[in-house]
Amino acid sequence: MDRLTEHYRLLLGLDDSWEVGEVELSLEGQRVEICLRHRGGSVVCPECGASCGIADHLPERSWRHLDTMQFETILRGRVPRANCRECGVKTIAVPWAEKHSRFTVLFEVFAVQVLQACSNVQRAAALLRLDWDTVHRIMERAVERGLERRSLEEVKYVGMDEKSFRRGQSYISILTDLSQSRVLEVSEGRDEQAAHEAWKALPQQQAQQVEAVSVDMWSAYVSAVETHAPQAEIVHDRFHISQHLNEAVDQVRRKEHKALKQRGDRRLTGTKQLWLFNPANLDEQRWMEFEPLRAMALKTSRAWAIKEEFRWFWEYRYAGNARKHFERWYGWAVRCRLKPMVSVAKMLKRHLDRLLTYFRHRITNAISEGFNSRIQSIKSAARGFRAFENFRTRILFYCGKLNRLARFQEV
Ligand SMILES: [Zn+2]
Repeated sequence: MDRLTEHYRLLLGLDDSWEVGEVELSLEGQRVEICLRHRGGSVVCPECGASCGIADHLPERSWRHLDTMQFETILRGRVPRANCRECGVKTIAVPWAEKHSRFTVLFEVFAVQVLQACSNVQRAAALLRLDWDTVHRIMERAVERGLERRSLEEVKYVGMDEKSFRRGQSYISILTDLSQSRVLEVSEGRDEQAAHEAWKALPQQQAQQVEAVSVDMWSAYVSAVETHAPQAEIVHDRFHISQHLNEAVDQVRRKEHKALKQRGDRRLTGTKQLWLFNPANLDEQRWMEFEPLRAMALKTSRAWAIKEEFRWFWEYRYAGNARKHFERWYGWAVRCRLKPMVSVAKMLKRHLDRLLTYFRHRITNAISEGFNSRIQSIKSAARGFRAFENFRTRILFYCGKLNRLARFQEV
């Protein structure tokens, strides 16, 4: 048995202060249990590092370790407490696990790698033979480790956006680092307070180095930017702007459709999506459907033409030319007598200076839009989600580009 226990001691990377006692193999339970014993003598105080005597031993506890072949492997042992003159009685650190963890470091590293590879928490839990709460706790610890060591230098461009959370009217706010395509923070709600909450992720010194922030025009987010990064330029996100334009076109269509229907004219039935697509993305069949509609003398086709004309705004190289284009476009749009279009045009005009900043900082929230599908899958896999906190953990785990194994690697 001596050879075997020594073999385990080496495998576990234990120093002389620990020895392997019995190794119990349960064929029925498909389990290996390894009993570890502290050899006594002096121990190191976990707080001040002084060498001290042993006060006592805690009751036996266990840690899940990497499987041995297909056998679940458990370490068991009683951890001594140091009797420190300075600090009092303190539980010593064990070399194989972090404080309060029920797993060995190697197991946690493995679990994090499985979670990353599966990108599906349910499947990872099944592979690891762990329950939901345990997997969640492992993710939480990985996120904590990553956040502790995260570098926030060179966060030059930031995006703020909202996402729906759960069904109905719940929202979350997401702060992203646009240059490095990573989520910096997630907060609950989408009001000013939520925005402030999210900005706390960036310490003042870093926030003051942000050059520009991409946000929607309406949002409460603007004032949070002005508070936390007053030097940063605000760039109103072009995707939100096209959403506002699309929404206006749709309002015109709904109203016109209603009026036409009363006269028995069903030309606009089932055409909602056609007016919202970027024509460049229409396939041939759709275009064949759309082309004759667009050419008709409809209010909706007029609204659509105004929306499409605005698209050119973004193609300019210089703000001066873009401004000229805007003025021409605006003159047309405000005279079109289509209320929703007029009000979007006026809104864009009010915010024009912060549209033109785009030509200095070509940023959009497209990256955080890219996180959408990711976040959507996290959400759909998360039936029975109990709290916003769990959602935040998963978003940061999968979209935060954190070093989830940091600290382990420093040991
Ligand atoms: Zn001490």
